[in-house]
Amino acid sequence: MTPTFRFAPSPTGFLHLGHALSAVTVWRAAEAAGGRVLLRIEDIDPVRSKPEFAAAIEEDLAWLGLSWSGPVARQSERFDLYAAALARLDAMGLLYACRLSRADIAAAAAPDAPRDPDGALRLPIAGAVASDPDGPAARRLRMDKALAALGPERLSWREQDEGVVAARPQDWGDVVLARKETPTSYHLAVAVDDAAQGVTDVVRGRDLYAATSVHRLLQRLLDLPEPVYRHHRLLAAPDGDKLSKSRGSPSLRSLRAEGWTRDDVLRAIGDV
Ligand code: GLU
Repeated sequence: MTPTFRFAPSPTGFLHLGHALSAVTVWRAAEAAGGRVLLRIEDIDPVRSKPEFAAAIEEDLAWLGLSWSGPVARQSERFDLYAAALARLDAMGLLYACRLSRADIAAAAAPDAPRDPDGALRLPIAGAVASDPDGPAARRLRMDKALAALGPERLSWREQDEGVVAARPQDWGDVVLARKETPTSYHLAVAVDDAAQGVTDVVRGRDLYAATSVHRLLQRLLDLPEPVYRHHRLLAAPDGDKLSKSRGSPSLRSLRAEGWTRDDVLRAIGDV
């Protein structure tokens, strides 16, 4: 089987140096393994995803000299797959509809209520009441039941440079698997697609390390194969913080307009 890697950006802005580090890391790893790279556009967010950003991603990758195998996969065209996975989890009795707003959750939470690894208040929170009981519902996973459904075998993943890592999906609480505004979530779509696309090696940033616990849980619940993971370092901004679009890191295209070359980008991201 050809080792299959993927680069899976969200088209919610232009790629910046952090994405370049990620992309070059993915392509170098695939090259070293004699594998191929798929490009997957993670455009499930109907508000923040824009076709012009998706088009720019393809252009920027081409400018970096990176080419992918086969057609580009777009998650917005794959909602049927996610619906089928959701229906399966539902049939197992593992989902519930949640109409709580962020404000409802915050109002019911004690000041020291536990948070998930992304910093959101961790559900369930006893006594939380939806202020709009007829409003749109998200679908959440019943984490305690999901963990019980796994049986006694320990949940873990294989991290390239670390070996076997114990997964801790319980840290996430009742994760959202379908949002109010879109019929899937990042966690569900990524677990379904990595399997459906035959991805054997997931190379991505360290910011998604903790999310791997949820992905492994979904893989086990849905009988999906287990890829190998490698979470690479993140590029630090000059002030030591993680680079991000929202904090105004310069996009690759603005650097290009300033006269940067591909080699300048490779130098800026350092060894991968
Ligand atoms: N779409 C995610 C992002 O741009 C990456 C998903 C992944 O690699 O699992 O942060």
